[in-house]
Amino acid sequence: MVSVNKNYQKLPGSYLFSTIAKKVNAYQESHPGEKIIRLGIGDVTQPLVPAVISALHSAVDEMADAASFRGYAPDLGYAFLREVIAREDYQARGCRINADEIFISDGAKSDSGNIQEIFDRNSRIAVCDPVYPVYVDTNVMAGRTGSYNADRGNFDGVIYMPCRKENEFVPDLPEEVPDIIYLCFPNNPTGSAVSKDRLQEWVDYANRNGSVIIYDAAYEAYISTPGVPHSIYECEGAETCAIELRSFSKNAGFTGLRLGFTVVPKALIREGISLHGMWARRHGTKFNGAPYIVQRAGEAVYSSEGRQQLSEQVGYYMRNAGVILNGLRDAGYEVSGGVDAPYIWLRTPQGMTSWDFFDYLLNRAKVVGTPGSGFGAFGEGYFRLTAFGTYENTVEALERIRAL
Ligand code: PLP
Repeated sequence: MVSVNKNYQKLPGSYLFSTIAKKVNAYQESHPGEKIIRLGIGDVTQPLVPAVISALHSAVDEMADAASFRGYAPDLGYAFLREVIAREDYQARGCRINADEIFISDGAKSDSGNIQEIFDRNSRIAVCDPVYPVYVDTNVMAGRTGSYNADRGNFDGVIYMPCRKENEFVPDLPEEVPDIIYLCFPNNPTGSAVSKDRLQEWVDYANRNGSVIIYDAAYEAYISTPGVPHSIYECEGAETCAIELRSFSKNAGFTGLRLGFTVVPKALIREGISLHGMWARRHGTKFNGAPYIVQRAGEAVYSSEGRQQLSEQVGYYMRNAGVILNGLRDAGYEVSGGVDAPYIWLRTPQGMTSWDFFDYLLNRAKVVGTPGSGFGAFGEGYFRLTAFGTYENTVEALERIRAL
């Protein structure tokens, strides 16, 4: 008889967002007609910008003509997209990254989940706590962790790096040296950003110890503070220790269209083996390329119209972030994030647990957020609100919260 991958059994039962959905549905059923405002999930609400729509239309037309029809895309991505990314996102910032170090994908979730495959099963991973759950869960599935410890709310064998107010939600360098270090800045869920100096410390630490940093920069477009790095490759020496993940979901609203990329520098070598070569092999073997029309849409993100329209769209969401941040501060909440990220992280009042506060907000204000404890043990006592709603709903939600 077949034997299944028992590591899946280690994953704790209910997933955060399904529990939220159940609670919200139950509330709605018992209060029909009441307007619930959702500031919980990280999905966007604004439509694709005209520059992207127009690129999609022309690419669709190309597909209708035998002369311009495209079949399988190159599995590492079309040169037109890899080149514009290398130029605009990296070389323009002084980073030494070339087009052939960029791997186009269907988004950062797949890449952040798949990247662990190129590392040994016994590699020790370190993650921030709280954390975007994909990093941990995919390593659990791969057998790289021990069991889930329900009392502690985390997995044995993982190095958890607490992110708290005291360290400005940027982790301290761990004493026990990890092999793989997951960092995400601007951060989901805390909304914190990292300074270039702090990030440089991480790069130096990884180079000193032979670790590899998986740097998730999915929210890079939301950085507004001067000096905050948009890429880890702005740090000296990052090409020899870091892989960077990027997404078109939050900077350009591609959550439904699906596009992202991963940068694996050629200088990243471990045990004499090129990680670039390994990722090229893995990507080429298991992925058959992002759709041509979507890659053309991605290219339009870098056009001058695209840039202009998208900076307005990011501005729209960040206006919401300001409404949430200021509204909560005025109401006496302890808040952070919301300046370089579309997430606002608030301390629950009067020692409430994250789930108690979830229920309180749902029942009393009909506003849905995300309990911090769903992102890790150190998220307990915190709560995440997102700026991805509509402006009108965000304003209304904050009026309701302030009226409590
Ligand atoms: N990384 C982080 C930190 C995220 O918050 C998300 C989505 O919410 C992703 C990656 C996934 O991005 P994508 O839509 O490109 O798969």
